[in-house]
Amino acid sequence: MLTPDRISLNTATVKEQWTLAQCIDGCQRHGLGGISPWRDKLQEMGVEAAARAIRDAGLQVSGLCRGGWYTADGALTQAVVDDNRRAVDEAAAIGADCLVMVVGGLATGSRDIDSARAVVEEGLARTLEYARTVGVKIAIEPLHPMYAADRACVNTIRQALDICDRLGTGIGVAVDVYHVWWDPEVKTQIRRAGADRLMAFHICDWLDPTSNLLTDRGMMGDGVIDIPGLRAEAEAVGFTGLNEVEIFSADNWWRQDPDDVLRTMIERGANAC
Ligand code: ZN
Repeated sequence: MLTPDRISLNTATVKEQWTLAQCIDGCQRHGLGGISPWRDKLQEMGVEAAARAIRDAGLQVSGLCRGGWYTADGALTQAVVDDNRRAVDEAAAIGADCLVMVVGGLATGSRDIDSARAVVEEGLARTLEYARTVGVKIAIEPLHPMYAADRACVNTIRQALDICDRLGTGIGVAVDVYHVWWDPEVKTQIRRAGADRLMAFHICDWLDPTSNLLTDRGMMGDGVIDIPGLRAEAEAVGFTGLNEVEIFSADNWWRQDPDDVLRTMIERGANAC
């Protein structure tokens, strides 16, 4: 059972309906505990204005989505390093609990996932080095392996934590149940992460059947994921962050009245989480 103050709105959930300013108002109106903006919405509003509005609304920032995308050019470029540095600065400006990293997949035409993974680790090391100087935490979000080619070649919590082990302090994982629920090691690896490295917890549901691999996520309770079981595991290791609702849903939730979406999130938080 999740109370509204334990829930954060990832702005992707109502991205077709609301600007960031409207999301901030909506979170406050519905009594949610926090928000997690995407960078496009943040930049559209202006980082300083958004930081002020979020503060005034009394909202926690459970994360900033997203940095990463290290692999697009096949090697780490200065442009990508610089963009991630800006993302770190934005995360600092809004007081985000972490900067969430979607690390990137294969370069166009490449079949070399090993070298993509090496580029990712090099990029994360560079971003982390800067993030430490401004006190921003870096959270690697492992994505479901169906996105290994086009979005992220880090696909399990184990793989992400192995990178964290090598890179040291200040880096951890964002666990999104949509991406990791199927993994036989999911609970073991949540325990391995521990409170320090479990930096974000994203919830939604896996619909069966799923009609689109990117934009057909379900509301909690409408699919097959044992959200209460995974959440209990996270809490057992000492995770005290917010439960961030992140739903990409072109044919359903993106077409609903956003106030109804937030009301449903709250009802499912109480009854399906
Ligand atoms: Zn996520």
